[in-house]
Parts: sequence; C-alpha cells; structure tokens
Amino acid sequence: MEVSNLNARIIAIGDELLCGRTLETNSNFIQRQLLKYGIDVERVTVVHDNKSDIMSALDEAGQQLIFVTGGLGPTPDDMTVDVVAEWAGVPIVIDQTVEADLKKRCADRGFEYHFGMAKQAKLPQGMKALKNPVGSAPGQVGKFGGATVVLLPGVPAEMHGLWPLVEAELELSGSNSKSFRLRTVGLSEPKLSDMTESVRDKYLDLVWSWWLSKWGVDVQASGPDPAVLDSAEKILRTELGDSVFASGETELSQTVGEMLLESGKTVAVAESCTAGMVGAALTDSPGSSAYFTGGVISYSNEIKTQELAVPEQLFIDHGAVSYEVAKSMAINCRDKFGTDYAISVTGISGPDGGTAEKPVGTTWIAVAAAGSCTVKRFRFIAHRARSRELTVAAALNLLRLQM
Ligand code: ATP
Ligand code: MG
Repeated sequence: MEVSNLNARIIAIGDELLCGRTLETNSNFIQRQLLKYGIDVERVTVVHDNKSDIMSALDEAGQQLIFVTGGLGPTPDDMTVDVVAEWAGVPIVIDQTVEADLKKRCADRGFEYHFGMAKQAKLPQGMKALKNPVGSAPGQVGKFGGATVVLLPGVPAEMHGLWPLVEAELELSGSNSKSFRLRTVGLSEPKLSDMTESVRDKYLDLVWSWWLSKWGVDVQASGPDPAVLDSAEKILRTELGDSVFASGETELSQTVGEMLLESGKTVAVAESCTAGMVGAALTDSPGSSAYFTGGVISYSNEIKTQELAVPEQLFIDHGAVSYEVAKSMAINCRDKFGTDYAISVTGISGPDGGTAEKPVGTTWIAVAAAGSCTVKRFRFIAHRARSRELTVAAALNLLRLQM
C-alpha cells in the first residue's frame, strides 16, 4: 500500500485524554516513527469519545494518511469502527479470522466468549485486520478514496506492539528517510539558530526546526533529496563542531557511556545540588558497571568534609558553591574511588539560597582526570527542576569534552 506521497493526520480518541487523567502519548510515538520515513504530520487532533467529534476530525483530515488511536475495545464508549464505517460510507462486516482468534483467546484463558468481545471482530468493509500481538482488538488498515486509514488501539503497549505490522502493511521503509537531526549541548536556541544561519541560507529548500531536549537543543532539517540532506548535514556538523554530541535519537548519556566503554576508563561522582542525578544519567545504559563505580551525595558541607575531605576553611573563604570546593570535591572523589575521572557538582538550584553575587542557578562543575582538573562556572535558569536537568547535561558534557 503506497503512502509515501501523503501527509499524516493523527486523531487520538478518549475522554481521559481531555480531562488530565491520561497524558496523550500515542501521537508522539507515531510522529517519531513517521519521522524516520520522511512523512510529515500535519496535525494532531484529540477528541472525546463522541461520534460527532470523531466524525468532524475525520472530515477535517480529508484525503490523507490518517492514524486513529483509541476506541477499538469492547466497551460502549468504544465507537471508532462504527464512526469510520459511517464516514467512509461502507457497511460493517465481521472478520471471521479475527472472531476465531478472539474465541480461541477466550478459550485459552478459560473465559466465556460473549457478545461484547464479538464487537472487536467488526471492521468497516474494505479494511484489513492486523492481528494484535499484545491485546485483543486488532489494528485495521484500509483505503477510502484518497485517504489511507489506520486504526490502532488506545493502550500504548498494544499500539507499539502493532506498529511493525503497520509498517509492513504500509510498506514503510528506512530508505524513505528524508530528514536528519543533530543533537547539541551547551548552546542556547538563539545561539544555535545563529550558528545554523549560513547553512540555512545555502539550503533554502530544506525545512528547519529546533526543539529543546533535556540535554540542550536539537536541530532538524527535512527535504525531498537525500543527497542534499547529506551535504547539508556535513556542513552543519563542521559549523557546530563539538557542540554536537549525537545524531538521531541517541542521548548524551549514551554517547558518554560509549566513549567510556571504548576507552576502558572509569568515572565516579561527587554530587551536591543534583543529589545523584549525574550518577543516574551515567547509569542510564545497560553495561554501565564497566565504567561507573559509584559516588558520594554530599549535600551538606559536613558530608563534603567527612566523605570527600573538603577542607572546612574553603567553605569559610569561598562558600560551598565555588571554584575551590568543586575542584576539591572532584580531585578527592577521584582519589577516593580510584577512577580515571571524577565529576563534581555544587550549585544553587533554588528557589531560595541565591545572593547578588551567586544568584539561583549558579553552579560549579569540575572534572578531575590524571594530573588535571577542569573547573567551570555555569549560570542556569532560576527554575529548580530545569536547572538541575541542565546541570546534569553540563556535567556529562564537561566529561565528554575532557575525554
Ligand atoms: P480497550 O480495549 O482498553 O478499551 P481501546 O482501543 O478502546 O482499548 P481506549 O479505551 O481508547 O482504547 O484506551 C484505553 C486506555 O489506553 C486509556 O484508558 C488510556 O489509559 C490509554 N490511552 C488511550 N489513548 C491514549 C493516548 N492517545 N495516549 C496515551 N494513552 C492512551
Ligand atoms: Mg476502550
């Protein structure tokens, strides 16, 4: 089923998605999948379990590739199949294979097969059922005029489980990829925008977008010609230099983990304001025990002195959030754990504790290595959660640049 010339619409159905009970994540999953194939998602519509709302969303989607999630189950609020059939102007049919599967599923589990279950074997005529490897309701794919319609269950695990079958049915393949994404750390959005300007001027036909990640800012370009994308990516990489830590979906924690694995080096952490978040990030990937040994959460000055031998005089002379304390924490942590590197973090996450000289967000990060220690001051935003997240990114990045 050829779909590469279409744009996509996603319709997420469910009352629970519009009252704050369930975070709507299905569209995000589908978007990420379609990105790989260069299929553009034009709009996401979230609607109630309500016939006229679903009908309007379908009408509005028109002759596109339409993904509908939710409302395929056996309960009365599940009405997707009926509404799609009415919208397409086709009758409902019972798929014998699906019905047999449902009966077998019930028998295997010792349940009685009843009328409610039979509802899940109903298809708008012309649609093909895709057997659900996780749950009972099948996925469905069909063409109505210029529209290609894909129905998927609302339960995220079921939708994910069905996705490979959707890919096969729609003949989506990686070779259609029409975008690249570079992931940067340490650059603000305006700075990244400036640094990409000359490349954007050269490749006016590409569509550019930027978005924040927990590590920094990602930049993406899409366009019809893979050769053009390749050359734009090469130039952009040179332009952005070592701010780029990865492309595609790779996380900074993975990049750093892979570098440590390849070099056979080890790392430990001494964390104050992040209280273990840097260690947690370094152990995101399986196999991290090969390079991560442990750390000290030294939130108080007493623990910094007791566990990391930071001289008390440093707190008196410079304060806990200072070049001197960060450096002492990192060097002593490296000695204590006998690792190749140690990362230390000390900062003011807020909302209280800031001064004119050291406002909220002021953070010192150090990376100790054999015979050297890099110490850097950062000034993150005065928002506790984001400031801690950016501290983790900066700490991992400082180690990355040191290796
Ligand atoms: P079921 O057989 O469970 O009824 P269904 O296909 O009818 O499956 P829904 O009833 O619409 O699916 O949703 C089932 C559950 O899946 C919801 O209660 C919700 O927790 C979750 N869910 C549904 N849609 C989404 C979505 N777009 N994003 C995240 N979770 C969702
Ligand atoms: Mg349901």
